[in-house]
Amino acid sequence: MKVPFLDLSRQHAPLKAELMKVFETAVDGSGFIGGEPVSGFETEFAAYHGGGFCAGVNSGTDALRFALTALGVGAGDSVLTTAHTFIATTEAISQVGAKIRFVDVEEATGLMDVRKAGELMASEKIKAIIPVHLYGQCVDMDPLLQLAKLHGAKVLEDACQAHGASYKGRKAGTMGDAAAFSFYPGKNLGALGEGGAIISKDAGVIQTCKMLRDHGQKEKYVHVLEGYNGRLDTIQAGCLRVKLKNLDRWNAERVKQAQFYNEKLRDVPGVGFTETPSHNEGVFHLYVIYVDRPKELQKHLQDRGVGSGFHYPIPLHLQSCYAGLGYKEGSLPVTEKLSRRLLSLPVFPGLTQAEQEHVVISVREFQGSR
Ligand SMILES: *Cc1c(COP(=O)(O)O)cnc(C)c1O
Repeated sequence: MKVPFLDLSRQHAPLKAELMKVFETAVDGSGFIGGEPVSGFETEFAAYHGGGFCAGVNSGTDALRFALTALGVGAGDSVLTTAHTFIATTEAISQVGAKIRFVDVEEATGLMDVRKAGELMASEKIKAIIPVHLYGQCVDMDPLLQLAKLHGAKVLEDACQAHGASYKGRKAGTMGDAAAFSFYPGKNLGALGEGGAIISKDAGVIQTCKMLRDHGQKEKYVHVLEGYNGRLDTIQAGCLRVKLKNLDRWNAERVKQAQFYNEKLRDVPGVGFTETPSHNEGVFHLYVIYVDRPKELQKHLQDRGVGSGFHYPIPLHLQSCYAGLGYKEGSLPVTEKLSRRLLSLPVFPGLTQAEQEHVVISVREFQGSR
């Protein structure tokens, strides 16, 4: 049996007619930039988050970058985040001219260790914090928001893996000063190409993001800022409107699949899991296990036709592009430990129980517990 790590065709096949209609409307009307699909999607994505404002942009990376600028972060500022994430989180920090400061993660969840963030912020001025809701699980936001308030720091949620997740009943992306989402095709809500968005309750933040995505224009050819070409295009916005209506259903499938793995893998020797805190309703962008020999397990799974992945095998503070930041092996011990042990198993809308059984049997086989 072959079990792909991710198969997007299973979510798109039932929506094909609706998606093709989006393309047809764009081609017939020659409307490719801006227009009603973009503003309509922004309204609907904001409404999905209980109101506020939204700016559609070209990627999650742009969303992070524009939001930092709109929150007043720039040259000379320091921004605190984790090294256990995709590099886009920190690219945005450097690219607005700010300095990257790393804090370690909690071993139990793989998410920002807010207590350690507090220790760091007691002795160092931090302009903004980027909590990363990794794998679709929310960072412990209440203490983090308290900490930010105490030090006058802004909070930008990296919700690129957490569309629809919630924390104590509050949706990911609604708790900080602003939030960045990615609509890269494989995300819980993915476009049929590149896409991203910023949401915020602050109309001014979103207005600035809308200028930044469009060359800093306030009106045509009036540039009040120097911006970027970072727009969400019309076809992607139209496809995202179709897909947004299915997000909760897809997330519920991911949660069910994760529960299945939890039950079937719980007693397997040498397999560890990150905990989902009870106040967290995660959406399992990824389902990650921790084992002693992840590379060998991946090879074994491959031989059994099962796809898997590493998210992420080299922590950011040990990437050569960040050698100049002064971190070394041992600087973030928990991050380093997790990165050596992790392996992501298939989890996506349309994955069948029979396929999951095959994944489970293959993992058990390797771990020596049939
Ligand atoms: C995907 C991702 C991003 C970047 O999104 P793009 O749309 O690929 O630019 C940023 N942060 C995290 C945590 C991500 O997973």
